[in-house]
Amino acid sequence: MSTVQAFATRNRLMDELPARQYGRMLSACELVTLSPRQVVCDQDGVFTHVYFPLTASISLMIKVAEHPPLGMVLVGSEGMLGASLALGVSAAPLRAVVQGGGTALRISVPGFIALLEENPAIGVVLNRYLYVLMEQLSQTAACNRFHEVEARLVRWLLLTHDRAHADNFQLTHLFLAEILGVQRSAVTIAAGMLQHKGLISYSRGVITIIDRVGLERLSCECYGLLLADYQRQIA
Ligand SMILES: [Zn+2]
Repeated sequence: MSTVQAFATRNRLMDELPARQYGRMLSACELVTLSPRQVVCDQDGVFTHVYFPLTASISLMIKVAEHPPLGMVLVGSEGMLGASLALGVSAAPLRAVVQGGGTALRISVPGFIALLEENPAIGVVLNRYLYVLMEQLSQTAACNRFHEVEARLVRWLLLTHDRAHADNFQLTHLFLAEILGVQRSAVTIAAGMLQHKGLISYSRGVITIIDRVGLERLSCECYGLLLADYQRQIA
């Protein structure tokens, strides 16, 4: 059994593939470790590989003029980076920055295109995932415009918790401020309130989820809507 096959955590998008296509895909993958803040692909760059995160998570961020990049989508073991190749587009519309360090499976773009051409079933799954991404981008745009910082912070913590495969994870206030497009002090105040309510604890850049149900109650509706959209299309 190879290292890849022996790895316990799976990617749910790959799990959607029929057995034959799953095997073909897995045999083309290499297992890599991604480090926090590593830029996997820059905005308006070109994908060199596609990534299927296992324990890693990748934040897709948009850069507008002089502003810090704003977080739009968090990709973990439920998704992939580079799905637009199914549309024949190798350009990256968003900056892909590793939020949570960990493992991912990756395939070179030429290898992935060959797989797509040989196995149309892979494209069918990717098209459903691309629809999910469209919904996520739309919902996040509305969320950033209409919802308060605390609710948005909770939404991002829930997304992170889902993808971290652990109750604690490294996430600094500074990075969260960039993700949410707010001042660091706003994150510190909102996170302090969550800690005061006994929902999370925060120490030396590590956030621990203490009361998941309580957090879900405080989140804006966007988290639940996005989860339901994903489950309708993929799971
Ligand atoms: Zn929202």
